Amino acid sequence: MPEERENDFKSRMEQVLRLTDRAGEPMLALKSRSFAPTLKEDPAEAELSSHKLMVRSGLVRRLAGGIYSYLPLMLRSIRKLERIIRRSLNKRGAQELLLPAVQPLELWKESGRDKKYGPELLRLKDRHMRDFVIGPTHEEVITDIVRREIRSYRDLPLNLYQIQTKFRDEIRPRFGLMRCREFIMKDAYSFDHDEEGAALSYRSMYEAYKEIFDSCGLSYAVVEAESGAIGGSYSHEFMVLADSGENTLLFCGACGYAANQEKTELSDYPLDAPREGPLERVHTPNARHVDELARFLGVGEAEIIKSMLFITEDEGPVLVLIPGHREINPVKLEKYLNADSVRLASPEEAEEITGTPTGFVTPVGSKLRVVADSGVRRMGSGVVGAGEKDYHYKGAQPGRDFKVDDYFPLALAVEDDPCPNCGKPLKLKKGIEVGHVFKLGTKYSEALGARAQKRDGTEAPIVMGCYGIGLGRAIAASVEQSGDKDGIVWPMPLSPYEVDVLPLQVKNPAVMEAALNLAEALVGLEVEVMLDDRDERPGKKFKDADLLGLPLRVTVSEKNIEKGLLEIKERKSGKVSMIPAAEAPGRLKEIRDSLSSFG
Ligand code: ATP
Ligand code: MG
Repeated sequence: MPEERENDFKSRMEQVLRLTDRAGEPMLALKSRSFAPTLKEDPAEAELSSHKLMVRSGLVRRLAGGIYSYLPLMLRSIRKLERIIRRSLNKRGAQELLLPAVQPLELWKESGRDKKYGPELLRLKDRHMRDFVIGPTHEEVITDIVRREIRSYRDLPLNLYQIQTKFRDEIRPRFGLMRCREFIMKDAYSFDHDEEGAALSYRSMYEAYKEIFDSCGLSYAVVEAESGAIGGSYSHEFMVLADSGENTLLFCGACGYAANQEKTELSDYPLDAPREGPLERVHTPNARHVDELARFLGVGEAEIIKSMLFITEDEGPVLVLIPGHREINPVKLEKYLNADSVRLASPEEAEEITGTPTGFVTPVGSKLRVVADSGVRRMGSGVVGAGEKDYHYKGAQPGRDFKVDDYFPLALAVEDDPCPNCGKPLKLKKGIEVGHVFKLGTKYSEALGARAQKRDGTEAPIVMGCYGIGLGRAIAASVEQSGDKDGIVWPMPLSPYEVDVLPLQVKNPAVMEAALNLAEALVGLEVEVMLDDRDERPGKKFKDADLLGLPLRVTVSEKNIEKGLLEIKERKSGKVSMIPAAEAPGRLKEIRDSLSSFG
C-alpha cells in the first residue's frame, strides 16, 4: 500500500474503533486485538455443549469449582441481557438499587433461614470475629431496609431490584455457568399493603418476565412451581426446554397444564385391583430391593409396599410407606411434615433406629410415626418387610396388620400420570430454570417486623413477592438451546457483536478497504461489528466465526469485490446470499432488525 493510502486507512480505522454506542460500549472490535482466547479441544471437565462452547470460544474461564471469570465478549452479552431486563422492569415502575453482598448472619437468624439454608450459605468472620454471610439472595436485607423506612400504605406499592453477584456454596457445581457457586442474579422484591396489591405486583412481574425472555429470543415454558426453601404461597418458573436440563416438567397437551414435577398434584394414579388375604411370613433371601423382591416372589412391583425411613430435624425419624413402583416426592413430604429439612436415613442409621437391615424394615409393630402415600390405602394390602433379615410379609393390610398415622399424596408424578386438571396423560420434558417468580406473602415481613399502616388505620405485615433471573444461566441456556456442532448460534439480542466481517486477504489493500468501508457504514447505522483483521487462512477464519457464532457473517474476498459483491451468511439458517457491496450495509441492518424482534 502506498504510504499515504496506508495512513489514511489507519486513521479511518482508529476513528471507527473509537466509536461507542449510547451506553459507552464499543461498536467495532478487531479480532486481532479482542481478548477471546479460543481452544481447539473441549475442556476436560465440561459435560454440556454450552459449557464446552463457552470455554472454547473464549467467553469464560474457570478460576475454581463453580467460580468463573467473564471475559470481554461474555460481559458484552451479559450487559445486553441487563439492558433487556432493566427496560422491562423500569417501565413497570420497579426501581434499581444495589445491596451489599456481605450480610450480617444476625439478619439470617431473625428470619430463621440461617439453619434452613444450610451449607449452601457461605459464612465468614470479620476481624472482630463477627459472623457474616455472602448473600445467596437478599430477602432479609431488603426487608430490613423496608421495615426501617416504610410506615404506611401511602409509601406502597414498592418494587426494588438489583443486578448483583450472589454466592451459593452448591454441593455439586457443574455445567459451567448453569450451576455455579458465584453467579449474577437479578433479584426484585415487591411490597404491598394488601393481598390484592400483591397479586397485581406478581402479575406485573410475570408479564415482565415473559417480555424479557421473549426479547432474548429464548424458547421457554412457564410452569407452576413449588416455593421450596424460600417459602411462600405460589410461584412460577420460567424454563428453557433442553434435554440436558436439570428440572423435570410435566405438561398436559390437552388442557395446557404445566408444572414442575415436584409441584404436580397426584392423588390418583393407576394401581392393581386391591387384594385381601391373610398375613403370611415368607423367606426372601437377599431380596432387598423392590425389583429383586418382585422377581423372587413373582409379583408386580405395585403389589409391594416400600418402607423408607426419613429423618427430620425437629421430629426425628418418620417411616414413610409408598407403593413399590412409585417414588417419593421429596418436596411434598417436606411440605406435609412441615419440616425445614427431611432426608433419607443412611442404611446404618436405618438399621440402628429400626434394628433391621435395609430392605427388610417393617411397619408391622413399628413404634415410629408412620405416614403413607394415599396409594397405599387404595392397594388394600401388600408385601412389606418382616423386620428381620431375609424375611417379608405377604398380604399385610394397613389398619389390620400395621398402623398408619396419616395418609397423604406423596408420590412423584411421572409421564403418563393423569393431569390434575383434566385427567389426560401428562408428558415429561426437561428444562433449565432461568427465572422464578414467588408470591412470598408475609413470611419475611412477619419474621423481621416490616409493617405498614392500612387505609383503615390498622397496621399489618407488608405482603411481599420476590423475582429472580440468573443472567449467566440464561445466557448458557441460550447457548445450550441454539448451539450446533460447529459452535454457538447467538440469538441477535444477546450476541456480543452482530456482524462478523471476514476480509480473506488482509494483505490486499482493496480487500481491507472494502471491509473497512463496510464496517464504517454498519457502525454508522448502529450495527455492531467484529472485524477479523487477522492474517489467517480463510478456513481458520470461517471456523472461528462459526465457533463464536455471531448471527451474521460477511465475507470480503478478492474474487467477489472485483464483481462488486459481498457474501452474507446467516449463522442460524446457514442461508448464503451475494449482495452488491453498496447495498450491503442497509441490507444487513434490515436483517439485523428482523432477527432482533421476537414474541
Ligand atoms: P435451582 O433450583 O436451579 O437451584 P433456585 O430455585 O435455587 O434454582 P432461585 O433461588 O429461585 O433459584 O434463584 C433465582 C434464579 O437464579 C434461578 O432461576 C436461576 O436462574 C439462578 N440461579 C440459582 N442458582 C444458581 C446457580 N447455582 N448458578 C447459576 N444460576 C443460578
Ligand atoms: Mg438452588
